[in-house]
Amino acid sequence: MSTFRSRALAQTFNRKLRPVTETQHRSEYFGSHVFNEETMKQYLTNEAFDGVMNAVSHGSNIDRKIADQVANSMKNWALEKGATHYTHWFQPLTGGTAEKHDAFFELGKDGKALERFGGNELVQQEPDASSFPSGGIRNTFEARGYTAWDPTSPAFIYGTTLCVPTIFVAYTGEALDHKTPLLRALHAVDDQATGVARYFDKNVSKVYASLGWEQEYFLIDKALVMSRPDIVLTGRTLLGQTSAKGQQLDDHYFGSIPQRVINFMIELETECIKLGIPVKTRHNEVAPNQFEIAAIHEEANLAVDHNALLMDIMGKVASKHELKVLLHEKPFKGINGSGKHNNWSLNTDSGVNLLSPGKTPMRNLQFLTFFINTIKAIHTYEELMRAEVASASNDHRLGSSEAPPAIVSVFIGEQLTSVLKELENVTDGKLSPQEKTDLKLNVVGKIPEILLDNTDRNRTSPFAFTGNKFEFRAVGSMASCANSMTVLNTIVAKQLKRFKEEVDKLIDNKAFKKDEAIFNVLREYIKDSKDILFEGNSYGELWEKEAMKRGLSNHKTTPEAIKAKISDKAMNLYKEMRVMNETEIFARHEIEYAAYSLRIQLEGRVLGDIAMNHVIPTAVNYQNTLIRNVKGLKEVFGKEFETVAKEQMDMIKKISEHISGITQKTNAMVEERKKANIVKEEGIKASLYCNKVKPYFEQIRHHCDKLELMIDDELWPLVKYREMLFTR
Ligand code: ADP
Ligand code: MG
Repeated sequence: MSTFRSRALAQTFNRKLRPVTETQHRSEYFGSHVFNEETMKQYLTNEAFDGVMNAVSHGSNIDRKIADQVANSMKNWALEKGATHYTHWFQPLTGGTAEKHDAFFELGKDGKALERFGGNELVQQEPDASSFPSGGIRNTFEARGYTAWDPTSPAFIYGTTLCVPTIFVAYTGEALDHKTPLLRALHAVDDQATGVARYFDKNVSKVYASLGWEQEYFLIDKALVMSRPDIVLTGRTLLGQTSAKGQQLDDHYFGSIPQRVINFMIELETECIKLGIPVKTRHNEVAPNQFEIAAIHEEANLAVDHNALLMDIMGKVASKHELKVLLHEKPFKGINGSGKHNNWSLNTDSGVNLLSPGKTPMRNLQFLTFFINTIKAIHTYEELMRAEVASASNDHRLGSSEAPPAIVSVFIGEQLTSVLKELENVTDGKLSPQEKTDLKLNVVGKIPEILLDNTDRNRTSPFAFTGNKFEFRAVGSMASCANSMTVLNTIVAKQLKRFKEEVDKLIDNKAFKKDEAIFNVLREYIKDSKDILFEGNSYGELWEKEAMKRGLSNHKTTPEAIKAKISDKAMNLYKEMRVMNETEIFARHEIEYAAYSLRIQLEGRVLGDIAMNHVIPTAVNYQNTLIRNVKGLKEVFGKEFETVAKEQMDMIKKISEHISGITQKTNAMVEERKKANIVKEEGIKASLYCNKVKPYFEQIRHHCDKLELMIDDELWPLVKYREMLFTR
C-alpha cells in the first residue's frame, strides 16, 4: 500500500485511549477560570467593583484610576491561578480569534524583575495588526488599529494566559472586527425593545438578547487527516469516493458515543466549564463521526465569545486525543454537513422572556407583539439575513441539497398560525368593549404557556419558532455567531422602533387606547408579512417556485447573496440603527468577496495538485501493471488473448480517458483562474471564481473518484472515506 496511507492507517490501529476522568461536579468549578462577578467581589474594592458593574449594565466609562485597580487585581488573581502572560483577545474579520501574548514580567527602573499589569495594558493595546483584513479602512502604511477592553465579557485564563476580551477598531474609529457591530446592534435592540416592553411593564429598564448555540462538527483521526492534503489545507475533502456505508442506516444519530470520542468530549467540557461556557448537551449527529455540543443560552455577546472560544479549544483538546475537529460545513460528499443553530430571544432585566407566552392576556399580548414584530422584521430583511450567513463553505448547505435552503422563511406551527389568523380579522379602528373582551379572553388569553406543537416539528425551516425562542438554522458551523446576531438584533431593533412610532401615533392622533392601537398595528403586520410564513417542506422545487411567486429571494451562491449587504435598504438600516457606517459596510463587503475568491482559489490549487501529483501517477502506475498483464496474456494465449484480456484492455483505455479528463479539466481550470486573478474588482473576481472556476471541481473530482474505484486499493495514495468515517 502507498506508504503514506498505510502509515496513517497503522497509526490509528495503535491508538491508546487518553484516560480522562471527571471527579468533580461541574457546578463546583463552573467559571473557576473566569474573572466573573463573584471573583471580582472578592478581589476588587467596592469602588472598582461598582465601576465595572456600571460599565457592564449601563455602558458607562471606567476611569483610569479604577482601571488601574481592576488591572492590578486581575493580575493578582491570574498569578495565583498560574498565569504568566496576558493577551487582548479579539475577533478580526478573518473569522477566527486573535491573540498576542505579553508576559506580566517586567524589569523595573532599578533593573529588578517584577510582574506588572496596569490600567493602560488592560484598557487599550495596539497590536501590530497590519496583516488583518481591513477592506481598505486602514492603509497598511499607517497600520494603526487598537484593541479596547470589553468589560461586558469577563476576562478568563486559558492555559497560562489571561485573556481580556476586546473590540478591535481603527484609529479613525471604524470597526475592524465582528464584536464592535455586534455590541452596537445589542445596544440598539436594548433601546428599542425596552421602549416597547414598557407598554406592558413600566419597570423594564433593559432588554438583552440571549443566544443559545448548537455546534455541529466532525471528528476524524489526526493521522488520517494529516495524510489528506485537501483536509489539511481546505478543511474538507475535495475528492473521494463515497463510502458504501454512509448515513443510510441512520444508526449513528443519537447512537452510543464511541469511547475515544466520549473521552474527548469530557475533557472539552471540563475546559469549557472552567471557562464559564455552560455546555450542557452532547450527542451523535446524523452523519458518521459527526457530533454536536450545545450550551445553555446566555447574553448574546457573551455567548458569541463563548462559541468563538469553544471552536478554538475544540481543536486543542482534540489534538491531545489524536483527533482532528472539522468545523467545515461540508467536509464529506454524500453525507450531511454541519451547521450551527442560533437560538435567540429577548429578555427583560426582571427575567421575563419576551418571546415566551405567559399566564395572563397581558403577558400574551406582549408575547404576540415581540413575536409578530420579529416575523415582520424577517420578512422585510430576509435577503439580508441570507447575506449575513453566506460564505464559500456554507454555500455547500444553503442552496445545495442540504438543510436549510437558501430561501429564508419562518415556521411558527399550527397553533400560532391560527392565532395570527384570528388577529388578522380584528376590526379596523376602535374596538367595542365586547370585541376587546373577546380578543383578550378568546384569542390572546387562550395561547397556552407551553406550545406543544412548537417544540421542533419542522427541521427543514431556516428560521423556526420553537416555543419560547426563534431558532436560526442557516448559520454555518465554521462561522462566528457574531454576524447572524448582529443582523437579527439590528432588524428587530429597527422593526420595534417603527412599531412604537406607529402605535404612539395612533394613541396620539386617534385617541386609541394602548391595547387597541397595538392590535391595529399588529393586524396590519400580519397581513404584510404573511409571505414569509411557511410550514411545509422547505426542500424541493415546489417551495422554490412558490417562494419565487411570493417575491422571496433565493440566492444560491455567496457572490450573489452578499450583494444585498450594500443595497440601499441595508445601508439605511445599519446607518439608522448606528450599527455600521458606510465605510464599514463597504469594507466588510470587499473583505468577503476577497475571502470567497481566495477560498475557491485555494481549493482549486489543492485539487489540481492532488489530481495531477497523486491521482494521475497512481493511475499510470496501475495502468502499467495492466499493460504488463496483457502482454503476458498475449504470450500465453497467443491469438486467443484478445478475448481473455478484454476487460484489462478496456480498463487500460478507461484509465487513459480519465487521465486525459483530469488533465484537460485541470488545465482549463487553471486558465480560468488566471483570467480571474487579473481582475481587480473584487465582486467580479468572486463571480468568476464562482461561475467559471468552481464548476471544474466536480468534473475533476468525477474522474478522480472513478479512478479510485478502478485502481488497486494497495496503490491508492489517499485515505478513503470508509477509513476516515468509521475509525474509532
Ligand atoms: P434542539 O437540538 O432540539 O434544537 P437543544 O436542546 O439541543 O434543542 O438546543 C436548544 C438550545 O436553545 C439550547 O442552546 C438552549 O440553551 C437554547 N435556548 C433555550 N431557551 C432559550 C432562550 N430563551 N433564548 C435563547 N436560547 C434558548
Ligand atoms: Mg436546534
